[in-house]
Parts: sequence; structure tokens; C-alpha cells
Amino acid sequence: MNILMVSAEAFPFSKTGGLGDVVGSLSQALAQSGEQVTVLLPYWPAGHAGPPPARLATGLNTSFPGDPAEFGIRVDRPHEGLTYLLIDAPNLFDRAGLYGDETGRAYLDNVARFTFFGRAVLKVIDHCSLPTDVLHLHDWHAGLLPWQRRFSSGSKTVAPVGIVQTIHNIAYQGRFAADDWKWTGLPRSAFSLEGIEFWGDWSMLKAGILAADQITTVSPTYAQELLGADQGKGFEGILASRQARLTGIINGIDRDKWNPASDSHLECRYDLATVGVGKAACKRRLQLDWGLPARHDVPLIGMVGRLTEQKGIDALLLFAKHLLNRETQFAILGQGDRNLEELVTQLAECYPDRVRAKIGFHESEARRIYAAADGFFMPSRFEPCGLSQLLAMRYGAIPIVHAVGGLIDTVVDATPSTIERRTATGFHFHRWSEEALIGVFARVEEAFRSRLVWDGLIASAMQADWSWAKSVPQYQRVYGQACRFAQRAGS
Ligand code: ADP
Repeated sequence: MNILMVSAEAFPFSKTGGLGDVVGSLSQALAQSGEQVTVLLPYWPAGHAGPPPARLATGLNTSFPGDPAEFGIRVDRPHEGLTYLLIDAPNLFDRAGLYGDETGRAYLDNVARFTFFGRAVLKVIDHCSLPTDVLHLHDWHAGLLPWQRRFSSGSKTVAPVGIVQTIHNIAYQGRFAADDWKWTGLPRSAFSLEGIEFWGDWSMLKAGILAADQITTVSPTYAQELLGADQGKGFEGILASRQARLTGIINGIDRDKWNPASDSHLECRYDLATVGVGKAACKRRLQLDWGLPARHDVPLIGMVGRLTEQKGIDALLLFAKHLLNRETQFAILGQGDRNLEELVTQLAECYPDRVRAKIGFHESEARRIYAAADGFFMPSRFEPCGLSQLLAMRYGAIPIVHAVGGLIDTVVDATPSTIERRTATGFHFHRWSEEALIGVFARVEEAFRSRLVWDGLIASAMQADWSWAKSVPQYQRVYGQACRFAQRAGS
């Protein structure tokens, strides 16, 4: 199949969180299984460490009045079956951040940037005559594209195309005010309840969900959660009406890119056979570098992630005084909301020999934490899938997770019976409360004191296979269904 991935992010060109990882590694895994995959994304120079990809075309335009006069296409073909086409529009995408400025504030012209993105992608498809069986849209950034295609006069892409919309996180809805409707270029009739109107505004995610032949999200539990008012965040009704088309498919990780046996950032590389020695060396190195007491007998808990309300870092405050009596150490890496960054920094200042924190986005430090940590704490209020816990397991750090969404689907709670059967890979806590947090850390510390139990957890976590091997065939099935629906509808 010819699959066009349309996304704001794809590693290695851009990554601000899991979206970039997932689109990059899923595309690669699909190409390796024989599909022809083209990834279309904005060219964001600040997000890419390597040399700029080659220019394929310049001087294109979309002839929409508000769009930049001209844009270009850059291309990279890392291997057989996989092509990246990057839309090079410097006045819209050559900025410090992908979605917002250094202070975390969203750019005021995001509506212009991402409505342009949809039109530019259509232009590139035409310009390059890209054969297309499936358009796979990721999150809200690409959601308008099918509508723009339907209402554009000149588009050559008229053959039926299966459309798949993936919801990586329903909290990000591409919601804009009614006054901004002009940017869509769509007729006013599409601003309706049955159309893209959304609680008085309009939403690019709603556009994608309605246009899609198949809708996916990133774990089966999150797919269920999205149907309830609590997690559906205004989309529960729309999704319930399209429930038969909704599938949850767990994200995979690239096991070669994330491999403690070959990771050059680590003090000591290790595999399952050498994990004891390897992790001990990595732990000691991190403790020394980050200014924590270099003790092997207390658990070191890592945290890596966006500092947003979703990720629940403020859970640390709920029970800091209890934890800090207990010698458990925390190494925290993240960036995001200013007040949460401050909270973490203050916590580290208050308890310097227990909590250390770094604010920023550092791939290398993230890897060093996964390798050094005994446990990995994810108190997310909600979690569509979560990659960090999968990476932690790959590196033998045992996830301690709030039992929601993809965290339920990927972490097996340590109970007497799962420990006995050697299937346990982590710890769940069920309520977001001081009591529950104290309880789960008491279980973690008890397990940590028993070498036998802890080694069993490490072995099961490291052996759990979260590669794309199981998820790629599920996507292929969804693509096939989307194509059949599209052919039947003649879209
Ligand atoms: P989300 O997509 O909600 O941000 P995920 O757990 O799905 O969360 O994915 C997070 C990804 O981003 C992981 O690869 C994680 O290592 C990485 N990451 C998040 N914050 C940072 C940071 N401050 N520095 C380095 N890597 C980070």
C-alpha cells in the first residue's frame, strides 16, 4: 500500500514528545514490512540536529490569500520504502518552538500555520503525483486536509483514498474561535453541528474524526475512556456515534534506537545478562553527576516528561514529606508549564539530597535516567498510551504508574501472584491521593529490599516486547478496512 503519513512531528526531524517518536518509528516499521510510506511534515529547522535535507522543489504556492507567497519541499529517503517530504515555509515554521515560544505560550498564528499545512500537503501530493491508497492523519494538525481536498477545485487526488485519523491525545483539539473560520477556506455551511463546529468554536480534530474511514487511538483502554465525559473532553458524543470505526492500537518503540546494550550515552552498556553491573554503574554515575548521595541501597526513581497538568508531576507535592523521610531518591527531567517547572525546582532546593531536577529537553539525560533508575514514576492524570514507561522497561527501570489508559495496558501490576508467575513488570496505584501514593511506594520499597523479587521484575520488564511487531499488522488491517469503506463510499 502507498501510505501518506501527515503529521506535525516525526523523529528525526521533529519531536516534542511521544507523537514525534511514534510517527517516526511506526513509519519505519511499516516500510520494513513492505509498505511504501511517505511522511509529510512541516520543516522545523530547530528540531533537527543533522544537516538540512535536500531541496526537491521551490517556488510552490497554494494560491490561498493568507498563505506565504512561496514554499518549498525538502526530501530525505533514509531507506527503501520510506520517504520524508518536508514543507519548507520559513516564515511559518522556522521558529524556536514548534507550537509555541520559549515561555510555552502557543503562537497566535497557529490557525494560519496549520490550515496552511493542510493546503500545502495537498499541493505536494499533486506536485509530486504521489500515489495514495491511505492518508493517515495524526492528531489535529492534519485534520482539515480531507475537507480542504473535498472543497478544492484543482486537486488531482480524486481516486478513493482510505482516510485514517489517529488520536494521540484528545486534550489537543486544534480548537479555534469562530472568527478564525476564514483561514479554513471552507464554505460557511461546514461550520455546523454535523460539520466542524465544536461547542461554538471549530476543531481541526473534529474535522479529521468526521472525515475518517477509520479512527484509531493509541491503546484499547484509552479508546474506551474516550467514550466517557471525563476523558472524552467534549468528543465523547462524536466518538460514540462513530464507535464502530474506533480501534485502540498500542504504540511500539524502536528497540534498536532504544537499546541499553548499544546506547552510547550510558556510563556502562548492558543487556539482560549484565543488567546488575550495568545499571549499578549508570546509577552511581547519575547520582554523582546530579549531586545525589551515591547509595546503591536506596531506590532511585526517574521521571522524564513534559511538565504539564496531564503528567501529574504535582503528585510529588502530595506526599513529599512522607517520601522524603524514606530515603528514596528522585531524578526529574522535564520542561513545560512555568509554574510546574518552578515547583520541581523548589522541591529540589528543599530536599537536595533526595530530589534533583533538570529543566529542559535533553535526549542524552533522558537515556541516562532510564538506565540509572530503579523505578520510573508516571503519575499521569490520564495517559493515552505513554512511551516513557515502555522505554523505562526496556532499560530495566520498573514503572510505578497511575492505573489509567495505556499505562493499564502496558504495565503488569506486581501482586503476590504476578510476582510468583514472573509476569509482573511494575506497580499500579488506582487513586490520585496521598494515601494511594504512600501505599504504592511502600510496596515499591518492600520489593526493592528483596533482590530476588526486584531482579524478577527487571527480567520481566526487559523481556517485554514493545516493538511494533504486534501493532504493525493491526494498522495494516485498519488501512485495509479504511480503503474498503472509501471505495464503497466513492470518496
Ligand atoms: P507525551 O507524548 O505525552 O509527551 P510519552 O510518554 O508518550 O509522552 O512520550 C514522551 C517521549 O518524549 C519519550 O521519548 C521521552 O523520553 C521524551 N521526553 C519527554 N520529555 C523529555 C525531556 N525533557 N527531555 C528528553 N526527552 C523527553
